[in-house]
Amino acid sequence: MALSHSLGFPRIGRDRELKKALEAHWQGTLDETGLRAVGQRLRAEHWQLQKDAGIELLPVGDFAWYDQVLGHSLALGVIPERFRPAAGKPGLDTLFAMARGAVGNQSGHSCCGGAHAQELTKWFDTNYHYLVPEFAVDQQFALSWGQLFEEVDEAHALGHAVKPVLIGPLTYLWLGKTKGSDFNKLELLERLLPVYGEILQRLAAQGVEWVQIDEPILALDLPQDWKNAFERAYNLLQREPGKKLIATYFGGLGDNLGLAANLPVDGLHIDLVRAPEQYPTILDRLPAYKVLSLGVVNGRNVWRCDLDKALELLRHAHERLGERLWVAPSCSLLHSPVDLEREDQLDAELKSWLAFAVQKCREVALLGQALETPQAAEVQAALAQSRAVQAARAASKRIHKAEVQARLAAIRPRHAQRQSPFATRSAKQRAHLQLPPLPTTSIGSFPQTAAIRLARQAFKAGKLSAAEYAEAMHSEIRHAVEVQENLGLDVLVHGEAERNDMVEYFAEQLDGYAFTRFGWVQSYGSRCVKPAVIVGDLSRPRAMTVDWIRYAQGLTAKPMKGMLTGPVTMLMWSFPREDVPREVQARQLALAIRDEVLDLEAAGVKIIQIDEAAFREGLPLRRAAWRGYLDWATEAFRLTASGVRDETQIHTHMCYSEFNDVIESIAAMDADVITIETSRSDMQLLEAFERFAYPNEIGPGVYDIHSPRVPDSAEMAGLLRKAATRIPVERLWVNPDCGLKTRAWPETEAALVNMVAAARQLRAELA
Ligand code: GLN
Ligand code: ZN
Repeated sequence: MALSHSLGFPRIGRDRELKKALEAHWQGTLDETGLRAVGQRLRAEHWQLQKDAGIELLPVGDFAWYDQVLGHSLALGVIPERFRPAAGKPGLDTLFAMARGAVGNQSGHSCCGGAHAQELTKWFDTNYHYLVPEFAVDQQFALSWGQLFEEVDEAHALGHAVKPVLIGPLTYLWLGKTKGSDFNKLELLERLLPVYGEILQRLAAQGVEWVQIDEPILALDLPQDWKNAFERAYNLLQREPGKKLIATYFGGLGDNLGLAANLPVDGLHIDLVRAPEQYPTILDRLPAYKVLSLGVVNGRNVWRCDLDKALELLRHAHERLGERLWVAPSCSLLHSPVDLEREDQLDAELKSWLAFAVQKCREVALLGQALETPQAAEVQAALAQSRAVQAARAASKRIHKAEVQARLAAIRPRHAQRQSPFATRSAKQRAHLQLPPLPTTSIGSFPQTAAIRLARQAFKAGKLSAAEYAEAMHSEIRHAVEVQENLGLDVLVHGEAERNDMVEYFAEQLDGYAFTRFGWVQSYGSRCVKPAVIVGDLSRPRAMTVDWIRYAQGLTAKPMKGMLTGPVTMLMWSFPREDVPREVQARQLALAIRDEVLDLEAAGVKIIQIDEAAFREGLPLRRAAWRGYLDWATEAFRLTASGVRDETQIHTHMCYSEFNDVIESIAAMDADVITIETSRSDMQLLEAFERFAYPNEIGPGVYDIHSPRVPDSAEMAGLLRKAATRIPVERLWVNPDCGLKTRAWPETEAALVNMVAAARQLRAELA
């Protein structure tokens, strides 16, 4: 029997019940008992859904109140001093304090004497964020949180066969950061392993047969000492009771394949969606006693699995492995929306192409079944349906569009090349724009007030006519322009009042995108995102922003920046197609946005910003793949930006500060001006510019918009002086470090007053 299992299920609920319960609890309208009851109901429901779908071993330990890494930190007693309860065991309040900062402090910033939250960071290359464990040099580990054991009992009481899921010791250490002093985290391993031993013993005592130990870092480039540590750790853990399945995902094992295959455990899971090339190599490396779990159903996307294709591979593996073959999704289904059945308003054709977590479990189970009883009517019917869907999709007019294909075929290198080199453009732009030295600007958005959101809702609900809605937005634009004029900013923005989200706003206006109503995926804590789905070839039927920007430009004599989202960011924050490479989708987006750039220019807009907030996060996990990505990502941006005249100034914006790795590629994007985040790192970012002389203009953010704190002008002037030591003043801009949509107007104006004052002071000093 090829066993069907799942590595993890979304915990948020198909109606985001967990989100709602958490937020009610934080607001004080749902007590802890009520919150726990919601969690218990969701777990029971999710096990049942998976079981009904045909999954034979159900995951436990995939439920988390905020984040599974945080839950694991509590289990191991990795609780920073500032959160440790004075007496007794940590509770849910400890967990939420670690996640969100101590009470009275919603923003996570240290204030009011409250302890600041642990750092949030992206989980590998997903859009899920985990809470970074903090390790002290004298870190002790002790079993401190019984959630996993309680949930195993809970599942057993419901009559389920379960497989607890643990984050492996090496992955856990890798994900954390050292606090206080800098030391090698591997030194903690010897102290950590006994607690894993204890956990395995308790699970065995509960009657658990298999435990899944997630070690996704085996898909990364690992230093030699970490590779050695894997052997050491699992040689020790093999003495503990229970069968162990090591789960790897998000990439191929590559040079770690031999290591992973030979660890002294009972099974290995690999991700064949992201790294199909691992098969069949893995068969020759796997010891004859081991179970091999093959992840053939994509846990990271929303497309239905091509069952024939998956089955062909599984049949081959089944011949070699027999009972030792297990079938699974590629990774935890945490990264997939919950239940397609909930989409009652999606059109039937599109719906037939998709599969969410529940449907993916069904696919896994069917594949397992197809190996055992290929002739079963149910199996035959499912295969026939899958075949029909694949064929219909391939033939659908929604997918391949001749115009888009023709445009792609007509792309020539010159289309990704500005007319003149930067030096020439720069001189023309100076003459054209007549800006003062150290020009001041902002990143695009102004506060998204309740009034703006209400107007948008009313418009979508049909309660506001198009004309009334346009007037509501125009009045916001007038306000934004007036404020900026009064502040004395040099390059203005219209404020983005009409945008709900920087990707969705454009996706809604492009052909080739589709939207779900309930396709939510957890991003962190109670926060979820609902990415748009790229369905077919992408194109722009009509101008998307020109009317708004033209209106805004008409209100002022100062230059008004056009504001667009770039192709890489559009792609990274959507569910992409699986039938064409990502770079092709990026190129299609580039052509669509390029048209918008040209329309803006034709409408008299002199400066156009193309945001690439997700450019760096697209970097592949393995270094060997970086070059390929950076090449196509850079090319997509250049294709978007390069149709304009020399006089038209192209800006881009990126909101993060780890540039060292990619600075050359960012320079190769050849934007005339780049605005970036630096203020939180006190201009540390500029170290990247020491090694590499960035050739174009730069606006290093002079204040942190993520905080309500308003720095004074002396502080900002100080940062500017620092920046001026690395970047020639003629190429320096003055701006905040990101958009202001999450801030309120009073603090926004106060900060910008100080920013403009700082710029004026610097100009005076330099004159
Ligand atoms: N122009 C966008 C804004 O100001 C940029 C946002 C971002 O980079 N995340 O909101
Ligand atoms: Zn930003």
